Amino acid sequence: MDEMEQRAAEIMHLRRAELAKGDPVALPITLASMYHLPGDPTGARGYGRMDNPTWDGLEHALGHLEGAQAVAFPSGMGAISAAFFAAVKAGDKVIIPSDGYYTTRMLADKFLKPLGVVVEERATSAMTQGGFAGVRMVFLESPSNPGLDLCDIAGIAAEVHAAGGIVVVDNTTMTPYGQRPLDLGADMVVAADTKAPGGHSDVLMGHVTTRDPTLYAALKDWRKISGGIPSPFDAWLTHRGFETLELRFQRMCASAHVIAERFAEHKKVQALRYPGLPGDPAHNLMKKQMVTGGFLIGLTLKDEAAGERFINGCAYLQPATSFGGVHSSAERRARWGDAVAPGFVRLSVGIEPLETLWAALEASLAEA
Ligand SMILES: *Cc1c(COP(=O)(O)O)cnc(C)c1O
Repeated sequence: MDEMEQRAAEIMHLRRAELAKGDPVALPITLASMYHLPGDPTGARGYGRMDNPTWDGLEHALGHLEGAQAVAFPSGMGAISAAFFAAVKAGDKVIIPSDGYYTTRMLADKFLKPLGVVVEERATSAMTQGGFAGVRMVFLESPSNPGLDLCDIAGIAAEVHAAGGIVVVDNTTMTPYGQRPLDLGADMVVAADTKAPGGHSDVLMGHVTTRDPTLYAALKDWRKISGGIPSPFDAWLTHRGFETLELRFQRMCASAHVIAERFAEHKKVQALRYPGLPGDPAHNLMKKQMVTGGFLIGLTLKDEAAGERFINGCAYLQPATSFGGVHSSAERRARWGDAVAPGFVRLSVGIEPLETLWAALEASLAEA
């Protein structure tokens, strides 16, 4: 049996072992800054910045899915910041992607560099080029957002480890159901659960997972001391999202694959990135390290106007930044200054029935 199917089933029942007769089956939302704490405080929940049972429920599910320990943060950037601040100090060198999520580079520029961290930027496709001696952390994003480029996570992790460094992978575009970077050798996985795990475009959340007890302790300390903690309600929404992620992810990826195949044949689509298609430059790597091509498609139309007409003219596309929701959404990434063609559209396929969605996409493409 597929291991992830097993885990998908198990996370639905993780609470069962802890329930007493009459307890709610669903995870409760616990709003608490104080806990009843007479006498010796050791071993009990102490204070709301350190402990919360709703976080525990979310982290239990996340950790179970990734076979690791999980720490939840109030956004994807909260998780990414934690990974850096837990593991990097002044004088350390880190390598980050030049073509990944923009805010990770801003974090490096505005905060890590001024604190004395040496930062090198590299394209995702150039991450395999070595030169890892003296590097504390290599931060990968594969597939990268928005370009959907890939890099060989296992190969890079082996080289970085041999040189004495650690590897962090931003797995937002794949989720644990699409790719398992810890199994490929990564030391930490970070993700924006704001995207597909939350899935309904109504919550921000992030997490870091690791199998290294020292890194885990440092991540917990960072959260407790910096105070960047998730709200219990948001943790609860994200936990609810994880209960249906496997189902939504299957539909989204299956639809995206068919839609990408049809885009590949379409006259108006000048260039296409979808790692699940045999024609994609990263397809061999995709087969090696990913379970699916994912739910994101990068398509390039003639120009800015064509991209805007396609997005805004489609009844079933939300013109929005962010991705991974139940509703399909799209945006022209050049509007934020990403280094992509003006007509490049990042399309996030939602859970709408495939042929209905395709008919709307095709109609809008015809007018674009
Ligand atoms: C959205 C995103 C983030 C940041 O997540 P937030 O919840 O917005 O902070 C980080 N990495 C990637 C790849 C993303 O797409």
